[in-house]
Amino acid sequence: MSLLQHTGKIFCAGKTALTGFQNAKRNLMSKSLYYSEFGDPLNVVKFREMEVPPLKSQEVLVRMLAAPVNPADINTIQGKYPVKIALPVIPGNEGVGVVEEVGSEVKNICAGNRVIVTEPMQGTWRDIGVFGKDVLRVVPDELGLVEAATLTVNPCTAYRMLTDFKNVRNGQVVIQNGANSACGQNVIQICKAWGIKNINIVRNRPEIKDLKRYLECLGATYVLTEEELRTTTLFKEKQIAKPILALNCVGGKSALEVVRYLEKTGVMVTYGAMSRDPVTIPNSALIFKDISFHGFWMTAWKEKASMDEKEKMMADIVSLMCEKKLVGPVHKMVKFEKYEEAVGNALSSKGFTGCKYILDFSC
Ligand code: NAP
Repeated sequence: MSLLQHTGKIFCAGKTALTGFQNAKRNLMSKSLYYSEFGDPLNVVKFREMEVPPLKSQEVLVRMLAAPVNPADINTIQGKYPVKIALPVIPGNEGVGVVEEVGSEVKNICAGNRVIVTEPMQGTWRDIGVFGKDVLRVVPDELGLVEAATLTVNPCTAYRMLTDFKNVRNGQVVIQNGANSACGQNVIQICKAWGIKNINIVRNRPEIKDLKRYLECLGATYVLTEEELRTTTLFKEKQIAKPILALNCVGGKSALEVVRYLEKTGVMVTYGAMSRDPVTIPNSALIFKDISFHGFWMTAWKEKASMDEKEKMMADIVSLMCEKKLVGPVHKMVKFEKYEEAVGNALSSKGFTGCKYILDFSC
């Protein structure tokens, strides 16, 4: 994942204003990315400047600070993501900003508040945006920029997968592949905070020692490469119990290897498909071990969840972040004008980058 960072200024008809402008005195211009057709993001995503529309009574004017480029953003632009969108559209599903101005009927959000965009498809890849009040949530100022910008997708996904499928909070074991992904890093940290033992599978690479050390510092109980998993004696020697929950970010052979180590009646939750290979299930896993297979999609969860469930999850995650028990993913800042670098990085199927890119919107 990459992050777009918007810092600083608001552009008013040729000159730079900082804050506190009035809706009436506009000609306020916003810089954004947009696309008018689905396709290769490096070809179809364009840059433009447009006048910001007048603020309606239930809307909020936000100066964006940072917005990530997630795999789902890329798939959406490619037309491969199962959501309906009317084109042209501004990409970007999550991000953080500062409120500049609120509509006359907006309560509980004030100018100066730091807000995150909580609903997908709102178009966060722009320096200034007008959003409906209901898609924003005020977050504490002490929340880190990267943590706030990336809060609604990966931490929430990790939180739900560790909550909704198996009761793992009583000393049980979780296994995951793609463990160095942004989502994987969140899984590790939430496991640590909740006392869940976790086994983490990553692809081998020249700097594997550094990666293992980093994930262990986050709270990984064990980190194994895919090759090490195939021959591990961890379970035979009873160094750790077999996992009852597997989180599958990759699919293909990686998922198959993970299934082999699941305890009877265990559950595999597939939430990503980074290898693009299908999950194949051995008959024995179904017949003799009664393993069950589920999928998870945050967008679908949000559509069904009650306000109370959403509120509890967000409050728990914000609190873990404020306590520094949950830190944002490894990342790199990239200037907004160089968005192609961030998009290109997220597009690469080769992987092995080990970090998220951040587009910097300051001039
Ligand atoms: P990310 O930070 O960009 O990480 C990508 C991960 O994929 C890295 O661990 C990378 O490992 C691995 N990878 C890349 N290409 C690979 C390949 N060909 N084979 C095996 N592994 C490969 O991504 P993220 O934002 O955490 O998202 C990870 C996945 O979860 C994506 O598929 C995303 O769409 C999905 N996701 C789904 C939901 C949901 O609601 N279902 C929510 C959040 C995320 P290397 O370092 O080895 O390259």
